[in-house]
Amino acid sequence: MKKVILVRYGEIMLKGLNRPVFEDRLVSNIKKSLNGLGKVAVKRSQARIYIEPAEEGFDFDKAVDRLVKVFGIVSVSIVLKIKSEFEEIKRCSLIMVQEHIDTLIRRNAMKQGAAPMSRDVPASISFKAEAKRGDKSFPMQSPEICSELGGYLLDNIPALKVDVHDPDFIIYVEVREHTYIYCDIIPSNGGLPIGTNGRAVLLLSGGIDSPVAGWMMAKRGLEIEAVHFYSYPYTSERAKDKVISLARILARYCYRIKLHIVPFTDIQLEINNKCPEDQITIIMRRAMMRISQTIAEKNGAMALITGESLGQVASQTLHGLAVSNAAVTMPVFRPLIGMDKNEIIDIARRIDTFETSILPYEDCCTVFVAKHPRTRPKLDDILNHEKGLELQELMDKAVRDTETIIVTE
Ligand code: ATP
Ligand code: MG
Repeated sequence: MKKVILVRYGEIMLKGLNRPVFEDRLVSNIKKSLNGLGKVAVKRSQARIYIEPAEEGFDFDKAVDRLVKVFGIVSVSIVLKIKSEFEEIKRCSLIMVQEHIDTLIRRNAMKQGAAPMSRDVPASISFKAEAKRGDKSFPMQSPEICSELGGYLLDNIPALKVDVHDPDFIIYVEVREHTYIYCDIIPSNGGLPIGTNGRAVLLLSGGIDSPVAGWMMAKRGLEIEAVHFYSYPYTSERAKDKVISLARILARYCYRIKLHIVPFTDIQLEINNKCPEDQITIIMRRAMMRISQTIAEKNGAMALITGESLGQVASQTLHGLAVSNAAVTMPVFRPLIGMDKNEIIDIARRIDTFETSILPYEDCCTVFVAKHPRTRPKLDDILNHEKGLELQELMDKAVRDTETIIVTE
């Protein structure tokens, strides 16, 4: 009997001839994510991945916590890998079910806010057994495995009762080259392994939206680099630290993030001094996009990502987006474009960026904010104003003075 982790993956299965490329990348990302937890063997078999610790004392909970953040994985289970013999299946299932009931009671107590020590065993817990027989040489058929095993468990654990429609838990038995038994299926985020879809540059502010946008595109297999514009001394070191913290949270999903910190003060002052107040926001945004594109090109990235959502603020109207888009030639991905703020906040909470995003800070956009930014900017007008600015030189200098740091979790 050996405890291992079973990893299931989804969309990669649809990849036809390209499938090995995606599977190889997933395996290497899994290995990267488990770094530091001790030696493991990562094996692929029949469209699944098994992770077997090679040493005692492996921290399964920590491993699962990291694995559910690896894009491409649909779900994971901690399973017992045993010999395909029915006596062994019964013996190990009993151990597993007893442990699982303990876990359920603990989880329930935590949900109800009770002290972790109070572990009242409920009068009854319902279950069902589900068996899959992949190895046709195994002498019992699936329904027989279920009924025999179910009966055995009922005989040995008095609190158990069977409920095939809405059980408190299911014991899964999969008879393959070995037999695998488990009670828990822990869902992950799906998506595609990072690195299978090229690289893009995320415009990362300290707000709620852009970290979510970056996470959503990383989920589709993009490797992410981040660009942050800061306006020292109008924005403080604290604002910069906050963005580094956000990048650090994203790095839990992306392993490491190259963060480019661009000094933006001179550009903002130039725009602020020479352009009409209601147009500074859009001209500033265009400058950000152009600098981001230059940084992307220098780093082999092929697209930009922003946290914009249609109509959320004055600069994110269709007219505003069209004018800021026209500043660059690269595709601009805006994964939040059709989402409401509440939906974005839900994801921010789930991926753990929310609490950091709402810390007070000054953003360069709020320092030089217009009271009434134009909601229907015209590209011709904007281009005319830009002609009167020393933008190109200032942007070149900003790129030269950019500080790049590697952020890991
Ligand atoms: P967020 O919550 O991501 O800050 P927001 O709703 O505040 O978004 P804006 O301030 O209009 O919206 O910014 C729109 C997008 O422009 C952001 O989602 C981000 O991608 C980019 N952006 C804004 N400020 C910065 C900055 N200082 N550095 C890098 N990117 C920025
Ligand atoms: Mg913002």
